Amino acid sequence: MKRTPLEPWIVNGLGFQPALENLRRFQLQKIRDTLHYVRRHSPFYRKHLEAMPLNINSFDEFTRFPFTDAGHISKNPLSFLCVSQNEIERVVTLTSSGTSGPPKRLYFTSEDLEQTMDFFLVGMSTFTGSEDKVLILLPGERPDSVGDLLCRALQRGGVRAVKHGPVHDAEKTLAVIKKEAVTCLVGIPTQVLWLARCQKHPDPVVADNIKSVLLSTDYVPRAICSALESTWNCNVYNHYGMTEMGLGGSVDCEARQGGHLREADLFFEVIDPETGCPVSPGEYGEVVFTTLTRKGMPLIRYRTGDMARFLNTPCPCGTFLPRLDRVRGRIQDRVALGPKRQLYIADLDEALFQVPECLNYQARLKQQNGTTILSLSIFTPEAVPNRFRDDICRSLKSIPAIRDGIKNNDVTVGDITVSTHNWFTDGTVKRKIRVE
Ligand SMILES: [Zn+2]
Repeated sequence: MKRTPLEPWIVNGLGFQPALENLRRFQLQKIRDTLHYVRRHSPFYRKHLEAMPLNINSFDEFTRFPFTDAGHISKNPLSFLCVSQNEIERVVTLTSSGTSGPPKRLYFTSEDLEQTMDFFLVGMSTFTGSEDKVLILLPGERPDSVGDLLCRALQRGGVRAVKHGPVHDAEKTLAVIKKEAVTCLVGIPTQVLWLARCQKHPDPVVADNIKSVLLSTDYVPRAICSALESTWNCNVYNHYGMTEMGLGGSVDCEARQGGHLREADLFFEVIDPETGCPVSPGEYGEVVFTTLTRKGMPLIRYRTGDMARFLNTPCPCGTFLPRLDRVRGRIQDRVALGPKRQLYIADLDEALFQVPECLNYQARLKQQNGTTILSLSIFTPEAVPNRFRDDICRSLKSIPAIRDGIKNNDVTVGDITVSTHNWFTDGTVKRKIRVE
């Protein structure tokens, strides 16, 4: 098994011997530098870190620093800036995934974007080389958008790449995959699933060509990975990142058992979301990161809202670099399901995507006479067989919160409506649990 290419990239780039203590020493120095940099240049941090001593000597001291979060950015994104506005190369506006809340703006300099492209190229070299052709199913029309940066990064590394953009018509995209002899796909989990499931009998030429798939942008359900691997006999890799991280955060190595992190540019922590204290390796908590090299809009202890954990065993690929387990879901994507039970979208993903006809869904919870009724609208490629509803109900019962609720008579499964209407084209790609 090949060691993650992130290791030589980080070690050679920074000039130290490959050992975790050397990496941590480097990161602590970069954190100190960043603290001084932001307090000197950013009005937000000047106030936010007013009372904090900047010359920290340990990570323990750093854990006493206040968090930043999406609310701070939404309120006044320009106050985060550490450079003048004309040094900003790209502005990304993110609408809040909830119904309320102003949009967030993130600012990047050309240097910041270069670092992202470096990470993309090294991360992709885990499973691509000059013999490959990559089809990018992420938004890529705008200059410096995620798809554009990835495409340029790959081309710079001598890998052939084609910008396609999100899938709007699965059959058409499959025709492109076949015509271009694509060997690697990069896309959003439910979109790539659509490609795998839209034909009753997958095209053998496509299945033969596709060697690897990188899923990104979203929580990556294991059920989708399994479906893709069995349809195309390929390896599915997971990328974890968000715009705030500079679009890239971690990527699987060949072991595909957790991602190695972009440690040269980002310092990650996992904290208890209630107390804010760091949790032990192996325990789940909220992912928090600090940018180490960002020039335009550095983020200090930024709360991602994503639940994950550090794995506390060495990676089979043999690197000293730590691993972050795949994200379990977002804190805001969970709802109470009766007393002491919680339902995550991730739970529904794992259950529903196991059913072969399921391509996407929306869930609704309604209270009636002390019972919670769970209803679903499911997008399928075509009319479904008679067993479909039974399959869905059986899968739902594999979720402990639902199974226990049914047993306890406070949860029931209501309507399951099926639609072949293509939600992917009308902007409602994200799965949701609506509470009525
Ligand atoms: Zn590894």
